[in-house]
Formats: sequence, structure tokens, C-alpha cells
Amino acid sequence: MTLEQPLTIAIDGPAASGKSTIGLLLAERIGYIFLDTGSMYRTATLAALRSGVPIHDENAVVTLSEQIHIDIGSATGYDDERMYTVWLDGDDVTWDIRLPAVEQNVSQVSSYWGVREQMVRLQREMGQRGRIVMVGRDIGTVVLPDAPLKLYITASAEERARRRWLEKQERGDDRSTYDAILADIKRRDAIDSGREHSPLRPADDAIIIDTTEKSPEQLLQQILSLAAFQTVSAE
Ligand code: C5P
Repeated sequence: MTLEQPLTIAIDGPAASGKSTIGLLLAERIGYIFLDTGSMYRTATLAALRSGVPIHDENAVVTLSEQIHIDIGSATGYDDERMYTVWLDGDDVTWDIRLPAVEQNVSQVSSYWGVREQMVRLQREMGQRGRIVMVGRDIGTVVLPDAPLKLYITASAEERARRRWLEKQERGDDRSTYDAILADIKRRDAIDSGREHSPLRPADDAIIIDTTEKSPEQLLQQILSLAAFQTVSAE
């Protein structure tokens, strides 16, 4: 009997739940590609901000999202802090997509159906190649509904804000206070869960994991054993 891991792993969860950190750790451990789909919505938002398109003008934002070219690749060869590199029309925007202005507008941009259509098409193309850990809000429900392993990673809003604040401090970025980060996380949770198209929610067959009191290493071990379990029970 050969044990094979699931070819696609879908990880969803609210802002700053640690899903990208764990997704990357998992992908590295099992030799899969890692795709953080939030970076794509962030890049579309940055493009709109840079070109001066009003964020509330849905048609203009959607048209722009059809014209831009987003690439995501390895972190190797750049600063040590990044998980991956993101290019917008050839320009390295890995850090710019983390700017507060992007954070403030990304949930609005990603609520537009036309923007989601673009991004989901690209994400499915990557998903079809297999051996991928894809992280986002609608991966298990919309992008890869047939993924054999779906996880929904969550933690309390306070814990998520604390982690995001620490991350920023470690990068030497002290522009945002803990309270501002917490308020932003709650605001994004509300928009992401309440939107009409592909709202944030666990897929019916997702395994829900609360990470409030778990270290990334503990979580990784849990997911690795879940991946093996899924395979054994499927055979
Ligand atoms: O995961 P991250 O915080 O980088 O995502 C930024 C924003 O992109 C989210 O708040 C959400 O509005 C949007 N997003 C989405 N669907 C995804 C991934 C992210 O709508 N699959």
C-alpha cells in the first residue's frame, strides 16, 4: 500500500489567523508549492491605489484588475523576512502590499465579483497542477471545492491582533498600535464574512482548528498527521 498525501490542500481562515505561516511551513515540509491568495487581492488593491482609481468605483477597479499582471514566486535571493515574492507588472511589491492603505481597502476590492473572477481563474489554473497548499478565504468553498484536505484555521481576534502586532514589531515597523490592528482585524472579519460573493466561512467538510493556544510547530504536527489520516481512510 502506498500512502500518498492529498495533492491539494486548502487552508482558509480569518485575517492574521496564522494560516499563511502554517501553510508555508507545511508546503516546505512536504515539498509542495505555496500560494497565499490574499497577496493577489492585495496586489489588485495596490494597483488601484497607485493608479488613482477610486476604490468605490467597482467597474473601474474590475477593469484595472483585468489589465494588470500579477506574478508570485520564490523568496530566495531577496531579504530574509519574506515568505514569497510578489510582482505587479514586473515591479517587486512584496512589502508594498502590506502597507496600511492596502490593508484598509483590500476587503472592499475583494468584494467585487469581477475581481474575484480574475483571481479565482488564476488560482484554479495553479491548483490544477497539483502539489499545492493554497491559503485564503474561499479556497475550500469556491476555488478548490474538491480538495481532499480542507482546513479552517482560526484564533480569537485579540490573539490574532497580538501576533500581527508582534510580527510588525519584529520587522521594525511600529506604525500601528495593537488597538489599531485589533480594530482593523475586526473590521476586515466583518466585511469578509458578510460579503455577498464567496464570504469567509468553513467548507462543510473542512476541519476547524483553533490556534489560540497552539504554537506553529504543534499545529504543523497536527496537520501532518491529518494529511496522513485522510489518505489512509480514503484507501
Ligand atoms: O489573507 P490576507 O489578510 O492577506 O488577505 C487580504 C484580504 O484579501 C482579505 O481581508 C480578504 O478581503 C481578501 N481575500 C479574499 N479571498 C481570498 C484571500 C483573501 O477575499 N481567497
